[in-house]
Amino acid sequence: MRFCVDGETHLQIFLPVALLVFACATVPLHAETSTDGAIFDVAAATQAYLDRLTPEQRAASDAYFEGGYWLNLWQLLYSLTIAWVLLNFGISTRMRDLGERLSRFGFVRVTSYIAQYTLVVFVLYFPFVSYRDFFREHAYGLSNFTFADWFNEELIGLGVQLVMSCLGIALIYLVIRKAPRTWTIWGSFAGIAMISFAFTVSPVFISPLFNDYQSLEEGPTKEKILSLARANAVPADDVYQFDASKQSKRISANVSGLFGTTRISLNDNLLDRTSAESIEAVMGHEMGHYALNHGPKMIVSFGILIVIGFVFVRWGFDKVNRPDWGIRGVGDIAGLPLMIALFSVYFFLVTPLTNSIIRINEAEADIFGLNAARQPDGFSEAILGLSEYRKMHPGYWEEIIFFDHPSGYNRIYMSMQWKKENPVKLVE
Ligand SMILES: [Zn+2]
Repeated sequence: MRFCVDGETHLQIFLPVALLVFACATVPLHAETSTDGAIFDVAAATQAYLDRLTPEQRAASDAYFEGGYWLNLWQLLYSLTIAWVLLNFGISTRMRDLGERLSRFGFVRVTSYIAQYTLVVFVLYFPFVSYRDFFREHAYGLSNFTFADWFNEELIGLGVQLVMSCLGIALIYLVIRKAPRTWTIWGSFAGIAMISFAFTVSPVFISPLFNDYQSLEEGPTKEKILSLARANAVPADDVYQFDASKQSKRISANVSGLFGTTRISLNDNLLDRTSAESIEAVMGHEMGHYALNHGPKMIVSFGILIVIGFVFVRWGFDKVNRPDWGIRGVGDIAGLPLMIALFSVYFFLVTPLTNSIIRINEAEADIFGLNAARQPDGFSEAILGLSEYRKMHPGYWEEIIFFDHPSGYNRIYMSMQWKKENPVKLVE
């Protein structure tokens, strides 16, 4: 059964219901969205949205997304192999020795190693990364990149990574040397400080390295978004748009930043490929992240995982380390590949947990967005737009383990449930 939108059946139930609701309400009603909760079948309305996709579209997005499950595993095995090569063939100790010949200063020695490590890993990882991020994306028709442009962005990313990891990893090793017994605690604090810093700084300083951000032109779209922001106490007085279409076809938006760096940004795919209702719905969702303090909450949740991760790494380091690798102890920078390998294993194992933390926040933002923007159909249409690269209707456990957003089915179902429970829209 399809959700009733056409004339005859709609009219039969619409009139008595509208009259009844009208009698109770003191404000005029918006006729089109008045729907009798009793006959609105949420599951059927959800299915009607899913049926807009052809079987071929569903098969392609399922294949793309399910392939991603395996890619996570291959990525882990690939990175463990790189770590093993660096340790087992003495490459790591040689990089350390080179740094020690260069300078007597600990900071220079450590950062020299980190720079070499970052470059070597970039080269060794390149075949995997180019498959995952360029060739595979093109195979599924999701990328707009030429290889040259894509590679150029990889180089910019490498530059950012060089600066960030030289500072961040050097800080962790400083902590290990200064506090050999309690470094797991202080290292965790350093890790948490780093993710907070990245969260605050990246939308303002890093994102513009990859995309052109411009103030959205004045007009009803911008005014609608700013109105939504004011209504929900999001402290932003401008809306930015960025040219994501040069990279991919994906629609997205965000409200990012902390402590005065808050900004609302939406990409040109969202502006060009979706309706005004969908834009409003998506912005309602993004503002939900801000209003519900998801940034600080994520830092706390991930902070706890980082603390446990440091304990795991400390425990695992001595278990796995081999004398013939020439590592002088956990404070020796030559042991970095082992440390990163242990972190990779740890974060791989807790993936269902990290996915669930994010997914629960996303579901909260979804419901906030529905209440704020009141566009259940606009939101459902936007979710259909995401179906190109997200499996729409996974199994229960599949969603818990692999999904960092609620599945398309559940998001549309939630929207239709909201629509059923809010049958009357007040005229603005
Ligand atoms: Zn979100």
